[in-house]
Amino acid sequence: DLAVADLERWVREFARTITAQRELLTELDSAIGDADHGTNMHRGASAVVAALDAAPPAGTAALLKQVGMTLVSTVGGASGPLYGTLFLRMAGAVGEGTLDGAGFARALRAGLDGVAARGKAERGDKTMLDALIPACDALDGALTAGGPFGEALVTAAAAARDGRDATIPLLARKGRASYLGERSIGHQDPGATSTALLLDAAVTALA
Ligand code: ADP
Ligand code: MG
Ligand code: MG
Repeated sequence: DLAVADLERWVREFARTITAQRELLTELDSAIGDADHGTNMHRGASAVVAALDAAPPAGTAALLKQVGMTLVSTVGGASGPLYGTLFLRMAGAVGEGTLDGAGFARALRAGLDGVAARGKAERGDKTMLDALIPACDALDGALTAGGPFGEALVTAAAAARDGRDATIPLLARKGRASYLGERSIGHQDPGATSTALLLDAAVTALA
């Protein structure tokens, strides 16, 4: 089962990879947006780590809530409220104790539903959902098939990376990239790229 220390490791690993990849994320956003996704996410990641260092929450829901609130208030742009909502909805879907693999999958699905409701995007719109939806589907599928949680996470992260890659030929229908119309085709979505890092971090920290 996953305890608060495990979720903290996941969040810290996500922050570490966002920081390591921030130039790539900004470069991707310079092609179809306003060249700030790496800066935005890095600002949020630094604030999340600072908040954890200052006052690490004792419960799983409290930890996810702190992460969500910190992202909402520091990331800005489209991605701030969306990533904030992801973690806040996860917080609302768990108790303060440990959670099993199915509980983690349920929480991630609740986060996905929150992002979809907030951003009104669908699969194929060339957004972070194009990584998150296949990841949740793969996680649920692998757990339903009876596979161990670690292997299910590996499958989910691979699905997120495939979904990220599959955004390249898509026409953007939401966010700043949609202003480009046809010219958004041929570029990888920055938000789907950071979401794939979120799943990779889960493998590193939790699998
Ligand atoms: P901004 O576009 O405000 O500068 P960022 O550059 O930080 O914000 O984030 C851009 C990313 O946000 C996009 O690559 C996309 O994945 C995601 N995004 C934008 N709008 C939506 C939406 N309505 N639903 C889901 N994701 C979205
Ligand atoms: Mg941007
Ligand atoms: Mg911006």
